Amino acid sequence: MKYIDIHCHLDSEDYNSDRSEVLARLKNTGGGAITIGPTLEESKKAIEIAEANDNVWACIGVHPEGETEFNENEFEEMVKCPKVVGIGECGLEYFVMKKEETEKFQKELFIKQIKFAIKYDKPLMLHIRPSKKSQDAYLEALDILISYKKEVGEKLRGNVHFFAGDVSIAQKFLDLGFTLSFTGVITFTHDYDEVIKYIPQDSLMSETDAPWVAPVPWRGKRNEPTYVIEVIKKMAEIRGEDFETLNNAIIQNFKRVFLLS
Ligand SMILES: [Zn+2]
Repeated sequence: MKYIDIHCHLDSEDYNSDRSEVLARLKNTGGGAITIGPTLEESKKAIEIAEANDNVWACIGVHPEGETEFNENEFEEMVKCPKVVGIGECGLEYFVMKKEETEKFQKELFIKQIKFAIKYDKPLMLHIRPSKKSQDAYLEALDILISYKKEVGEKLRGNVHFFAGDVSIAQKFLDLGFTLSFTGVITFTHDYDEVIKYIPQDSLMSETDAPWVAPVPWRGKRNEPTYVIEVIKKMAEIRGEDFETLNNAIIQNFKRVFLLS
């Protein structure tokens, strides 16, 4: 494998007209990807895509924005599929959703998936987005995760997707043994530079969140996993590291967290 996009949505209808070409570009350039199913139905599709492509893996779960339940029995068979490498994306979404109205539901949904991940010994793919100018969702998610960490130790693990917190929040996730991933957004804002420099090489991951947030030079267009190269290049530039070294470290991180654990 030459590079990895650890978070994209290949089942998205944005790829309905050319999904096989998008997947071929990924394969032909030596790339790998984890495709995420944010609902029950999309989780099924994510598994189908992963099973049909050696270089694609799947995460299954329920996104906090969807306002749908997580029923363990609906996911029990799916989680046994060898191509399922994580649970999520799950977490807390206070940017789009009104915290006051949905906090209780979201926390229950999140906890169900944490327990499920622990039961089946899978890493979590976290989606955490705080209210405007706040770190609320990060702090509350950390409270929940820390309490489970005390109970189960190493069994609680994973990655924080689309990380947008500051250095102190990053450190709290590092203390829990989580990795942090960044998207193409870092190619058109300096907001993430400080935290990207701060995170140790063995705790960084690369992602696209495709079809959304395409990196420069495709900003505003449809994104796809091959574009993750631009995200890795930018992280290397910000950190003052060479591309190959960082890219190899990210591939090792992906294997350690999602394939070997
Ligand atoms: Zn996503």
